[in-house]
Amino acid sequence: MNCERCGIDASLTHRDVDGFAYYLCEACLRGWDAVRSSSPDAADESRSPAR
Ligand SMILES: [Zn+2]
Repeated sequence: MNCERCGIDASLTHRDVDGFAYYLCEACLRGWDAVRSSSPDAADESRSPAR
């Protein structure tokens, strides 16, 4: 199978993102997680006023 992000032929891991199913290789998964964990949305949430 080919990675849906970089297109290399490798063993892929299924990842569900915003309701879409993606199949990513290990390298892309790490990059993906890094992007997701530092996404503006997440930062926004942590910055919102405390309840
Ligand atoms: Zn990839």
